[in-house]
Amino acid sequence: MNDLSALVRAIPDYPRKGIIFRDVTTLFSHAEGFRRTVALMTDYARGVGVDLVAGIDARGFILGGAIAMELGKGFVAVRKRGKLPAEVYREEYALEYGVDEVEIHIDAVPAGARVLIVDDLIATGGTAVAAVKLVERAGGTVPAASFAIDLPELGGADRLRERGVEVYSVLSFEGH
Ligand code: AMP
Repeated sequence: MNDLSALVRAIPDYPRKGIIFRDVTTLFSHAEGFRRTVALMTDYARGVGVDLVAGIDARGFILGGAIAMELGKGFVAVRKRGKLPAEVYREEYALEYGVDEVEIHIDAVPAGARVLIVDDLIATGGTAVAAVKLVERAGGTVPAASFAIDLPELGGADRLRERGVEVYSVLSFEGH
């Protein structure tokens, strides 16, 4: 399996007309595909040098947990509103389809920690920028963010770079 992109299933008009949903369940369920995706993202993170991995709810947990394990670092959850039990910081953001809110425990990040943001896909970057803000409010810094998939035409990776966050993605797809 040389072409990881062939393992990502494209679902046209989901969840709305005009969106091509990039379904990573088919990538994650393929043993070699999943292993190689995690290995590439882990190698990248090693080069950056991070203290913690923050995964974004929910597909970012699957990749982020595996990467943190490989790095021997801790994992922090950036969760959808209302899921975390202790005191939280909250950020609202606009999605490619809709509006949402994410939260982080206020004590999840030691002061000055270098935190890698991880998610399955970056589109407009709204979610990832909200995650960066949460980590910064919690006292950390975000040198880099890593994704299985980038949709560069939607500009999210550029938004992160403008904030000084380096961006890595294993795959890149044209269009929405
Ligand atoms: P954004 O905030 O626009 O960068 O959107 C990123 C988040 O929405 C990620 O958590 C993705 O899982 C999800 N997402 C957005 N667009 C797509 C898409 N075309 N296919 C699959 N997931 C998407």
